[in-house]
Amino acid sequence: MAESTVKHSIDNLSELEEKQRIIDGNPFCYLKINDTRELKLVESRRKCDLCQKSRKFFCYTCYHPVLSCKYYPRVKLPIKIDIIKHPREIPGKSTAIHAAIIASADVKIYIYPDFPEIPNKEETVLVFPGKDSTKNINVKDLFIRKEGKDDTSEERIETDLLWPIKRAIFIDSTWHQTKSIYKDQRLRELRCVVLKSRISQFWRHQKDSPRWYLATIESIHQFLVELHTCAIGMDEDYEETIKKYLDVNDIIKNTRYTNYIHQYSGINSEELMQKYNGQYDNLLYFFKYMFEHIHSIYNRNQLKAYKRPLT
Ligand SMILES: [Zn+2]
Repeated sequence: MAESTVKHSIDNLSELEEKQRIIDGNPFCYLKINDTRELKLVESRRKCDLCQKSRKFFCYTCYHPVLSCKYYPRVKLPIKIDIIKHPREIPGKSTAIHAAIIASADVKIYIYPDFPEIPNKEETVLVFPGKDSTKNINVKDLFIRKEGKDDTSEERIETDLLWPIKRAIFIDSTWHQTKSIYKDQRLRELRCVVLKSRISQFWRHQKDSPRWYLATIESIHQFLVELHTCAIGMDEDYEETIKKYLDVNDIIKNTRYTNYIHQYSGINSEELMQKYNGQYDNLLYFFKYMFEHIHSIYNRNQLKAYKRPLT
């Protein structure tokens, strides 16, 4: 393509597209994700202990790591996450497994019609835009307390009351498959939570889906960041970094990015009680690595996934 044509098309981009184009240049730079270069050192494949199949980092049919734990971070979550996979979703293409490996104590995957137990509907939500949009709620709505409940600060932090739910369910499937699982009556009885707008960085193209349709691991991360921020708040420095990052002018001025290289060895319960400063960002560890890997092989402009509409 001639240079003048490129310039012409950039001039025509709407402000939103222009901003997104800059963010897309380095979408993970404000997140506290361990250095993924470790994974590049892994060359050989190994046998999964459970099914004996040859895998690289983890076994996507057994949800079991084949890598030594020194190669990837672990994350402790404040609530349990259940993921219901569509039976026809291709295992190797799903990002749900990333959560099951990195937060193995708190994440479980079910293949539909296998289904998680829901002991308490009040303490469980489905993170999915329900059919009746008037009934959908935001994460912050979970924190609206019923009258008469004690809300004194220190006591709240010491108790379970800090987290208004104990369990969140996600559906792992393509844009078209999701609706068939959502029809299940057991899910219909749950409150549906919609996330704040976020643009996906997933490289996998899905016909007709907009770019705000997130990969499962992106949704889980976004949900937990919102939940944590509503419960405890966000660390000022962390928030400042995001704001700077999202300010296009600042990004243009600072064309050299530095990635956070924080080696979290896992989150302890004390860190879970601090203001949000990246505690769950490592959930995107494999996602970031794969994003970079795909982008090193293909020219981004040729990847259909990023040509989907933003709105
Ligand atoms: Zn296996």
